[in-house]
Amino acid sequence: MQTTHIEHIGIAVKDLDESIRFYEEVLGLECYNIEEVADQRVRTAFFKVGQTKVELLESTSDDGPVAKFIEKRGEGVHHIAYAVKNISEALEHARQRGVQAIDQEPRKGAEGLDIAFLHPRSTHGVLTELCEDKTK
Ligand code: ZN
Repeated sequence: MQTTHIEHIGIAVKDLDESIRFYEEVLGLECYNIEEVADQRVRTAFFKVGQTKVELLESTSDDGPVAKFIEKRGEGVHHIAYAVKNISEALEHARQRGVQAIDQEPRKGAEGLDIAFLHPRSTHGVLTELCEDKTK
């Protein structure tokens, strides 16, 4: 697998607008994109920090995956996303090594990236996202 950098860090929050204020007013970052991802039932906000982004995730439904995460563990780091060169190969590589994939095939995520999640059960506790920007 060719992993180039941390694409983004996903953070589960209860209130997107209130959280955006923290990142803007305290950390001095600028929210450049707010996007709803219907199939994950989240509203997301993005900040750039060098080559890496911070992705805030607010659930749009009471029983969505991010709502359940917050219910169990509270607000906080939800996943780490790695940029890879070829996501189909990367996913296959992980599966061949016994890693449990949540997505059997790459799918479209926020910001037009092709993404696939690996289950925290087989990644030492961290929900791990692989992503490839096919526009680059
Ligand atoms: Zn993500």
